[in-house]
Amino acid sequence: MDTNVEKVHCLIIGSGPAGYTAAVYAARANMKPVLYQGIQPGGQLTITTEVENYPGYPDGIQGPEMMVHFEKQAARMGADIRYGLATKVDFSKKPFKVWIDEEKEMEADAVIIATGASAKWLGLESEQRLNGFGVSACAVCDGFFFRGKEVAIVGAGDTAAEEALYLSKLCTTVHMIIRRDTMRASKVMQERVQQTPNIKIYWNSETDEILGENKTEAVRIKNVKTGETQTVPISGFFVAIGHQPNSDIFKDFIDMDEAGYIKTIPGTSKTNVEGVFAAGDVQDKIYRQAVTAAGSGCMAALDAERYLSAIGHV
Ligand code: NDP
Repeated sequence: MDTNVEKVHCLIIGSGPAGYTAAVYAARANMKPVLYQGIQPGGQLTITTEVENYPGYPDGIQGPEMMVHFEKQAARMGADIRYGLATKVDFSKKPFKVWIDEEKEMEADAVIIATGASAKWLGLESEQRLNGFGVSACAVCDGFFFRGKEVAIVGAGDTAAEEALYLSKLCTTVHMIIRRDTMRASKVMQERVQQTPNIKIYWNSETDEILGENKTEAVRIKNVKTGETQTVPISGFFVAIGHQPNSDIFKDFIDMDEAGYIKTIPGTSKTNVEGVFAAGDVQDKIYRQAVTAAGSGCMAALDAERYLSAIGHV
């Protein structure tokens, strides 16, 4: 046997709340899980600041610190946590094969996919520099910090509409920057946005630059039709132009929707391949919260445990 091939019962791919929670449950069920962390250990929460809506932290906690807690808990239960990126899979036969960093080959009886999703960004230098300093891709996570202040949001889909409405309840004014003269969001959401007095829409507009040295202070908005720019003072800048599920390497084997979100059988974490489960944002485009991801990670480990017992592996 090739020495670079390793066989495990349960392989978990991804290290956000879903992956680590799956690891806690799988380790406690004696499934000896091996978890590969991927390119961004700890996932999306490592690029946020304070988390105030995860139960169990009455005083809130910094996102990166919370993910250290998740990792420590999974390790203490006995999960084998490794740095490495899954680069290719073969789910056409059992045991399943997963290649790590294009070289190491893992064989697994059960696989839990918890690779998450990545927020799309505009690509501005100022957006990157001020990320976590007023710039955010999650209003539900960070909107609270801008209570009583003015904010801007970019995007015109259901997420942007939902987040603009959420922010309108906290903030004095929400400046909504929309690149065309129409919104992509569902009609009912569009109507709600347009009927909310403190949401000000800038049609045919793009973000020219976010201004501020160490914190967000203003946004320069450019009208693409007229070329005119205006500078609007704000404290928070939210990007809501969609997410990209990290599911590319699975597409030859796993059923997904047109955006690449993995389809699971409702009420379970089961994918179309028996023995392969999915949890967290890679299969959830609606809720996308740390707590819902953790909950679905638990479901995936329980589903995997039942599957492995049924085939006589645990
Ligand atoms: P969408 O892809 O639906 O919308 C993205 C929005 O961002 C579009 O308005 C798009 O503009 C805009 N956009 C993209 N790139 C840029 C850019 N570079 N600069 C400026 N604007 C940009 O993503 P969502 O996250 O809103 O939604 C994803 C899916 O999830 C959808 O199917 C949605 O319906 C669903 N969803 C459902 C919810 C619900 O049912 N409650 C809640 C949230 C999401 P343009 O229109 O010009 O392309």
